[in-house]
Amino acid sequence: MYRLLIVLAAGFILYKLFLGDRSRKRDQEAASKKQMAATGEMVKDPVCGTYVPVNAGIRVRDGDTVYTFCSYECRDAFLKRLEASRSQAVDATPTQQPEEEPRRS
Ligand SMILES: [Zn+2]
Repeated sequence: MYRLLIVLAAGFILYKLFLGDRSRKRDQEAASKKQMAATGEMVKDPVCGTYVPVNAGIRVRDGDTVYTFCSYECRDAFLKRLEASRSQAVDATPTQQPEEEPRRS
């Protein structure tokens, strides 16, 4: 009878250890992710907000800034947005025109 109790206790302890180990691992993973984001190894996808490893992401260079995306969908969405904002900016900049464009009626 004692043997059964010991086996049960050992099983319980192992179970607890296993659970503790798993949650600790999860904490470590979360911590390392945060640390990687802080050290620049993980970057935030500007479209969907996911953290992407710098080496694994899809990168787009815009001048001196490099954007990293989790997928081509995000990259395309970002490029579209960038293009739209650029063309708007071009339209918005006051260009000195000596004459008004002839209006077509
Ligand atoms: Zn994304």
